[in-house]
Amino acid sequence: MRPLIVSLIPRSLPPVIYDRLAEIGDVVFWPSLDPAAKAEAAKRAEVLIATSSSRVDKAVLDTFPNVRMIGDFGVGFDGYDTAEIARRGIHLSHTPGVLSDDVADLAFALMLDAARLMPASDRLVHEGRWPQGGMPLAVKVSGKRIGIAGLGRIGLEIARRAEGFKMTVGYTARTEKNVPWQRFPDMLSLAEWADFLVIVIPGSLETHHLVNAEVLAALGPKGFLINVARGSLVDTTALIRALESGTIAGAGLDVFEHEPYVEDQLRRLPNAVLTPHIGSATVETRTAMAHLVADNVKAWAEKRPLITPVPGTERDPD
Ligand code: NAP
Repeated sequence: MRPLIVSLIPRSLPPVIYDRLAEIGDVVFWPSLDPAAKAEAAKRAEVLIATSSSRVDKAVLDTFPNVRMIGDFGVGFDGYDTAEIARRGIHLSHTPGVLSDDVADLAFALMLDAARLMPASDRLVHEGRWPQGGMPLAVKVSGKRIGIAGLGRIGLEIARRAEGFKMTVGYTARTEKNVPWQRFPDMLSLAEWADFLVIVIPGSLETHHLVNAEVLAALGPKGFLINVARGSLVDTTALIRALESGTIAGAGLDVFEHEPYVEDQLRRLPNAVLTPHIGSATVETRTAMAHLVADNVKAWAEKRPLITPVPGTERDPD
């Protein structure tokens, strides 16, 4: 019997994922089902396709009592109750690695946008205001100090790009890496040293509000905060105060504590560049992610080990 695969993801995915998954089982799109079809699908579903923002907690798992496999479309798994998933013996995969280049590219785009005043420059030309005067001088990026908080897959790609920009790289991580860059013991010391503090640590209870008022004060009035990890890493109230008061120079943010809702004060600030969680949002990368999700579901269906299981949930094939 073909397994029922339920996609919980409200946004459109590359069509290839549905073609690939349809080779393995019957695929339904949860948001478009009526209540009766939902009740039927909930009972039958053996596979869920989700993202961290789907918030797969105990209540969701109770809704789908026969689920054996969850394919996460993303790398951060802070939205999953991994302990409960492991306790129930459910397989959980994610898509690490294939999106690292895109997220690192976006970190650089946000750094350049914030420091070189790109959004305001673009608006000035589009709105025909150039003849009335140009832009104020901006801040140079090349040759500055970049402090990378989290030197994992994405952090490493950011460091590689930084070398091309002749920047001095520093980092903090839980473990020492075999790299030529200076390691700092914590976020605070990294912020004190850095001109650009780039956050790329996973969201978790342990990392909640690691970037607080003290860290922002240490970053200082010439410093920029870039967050491409999770909104939960940054104390938003402290960040708004720091941007309003000039405690830091500016910020580039792709992720937010209450996304997709962004605080009014943050949206009004001219020294914050804001993007709607688009770190991996290119056709090429989302297609690669789609294939990796499907490859993992296929491995599960063929009773092989998952290709990229979420750490801590690894288990033998059913
Ligand atoms: P990764 O390879 O697991 O790297 C995570 C890094 O963070 C590691 O260096 C790890 O240190 C470090 N770290 C973890 N907890 C820490 C702590 N408490 N203090 C200091 N460092 C800590 O993950 P990745 O693939 O680079 O992805 C990182 C995160 O980016 C994801 O979890 C996700 O939330 C986010 N992300 C965002 C987007 C987007 O669209 N904006 C897209 C993809 C991913 P060790 O190496 O010592 O363990």
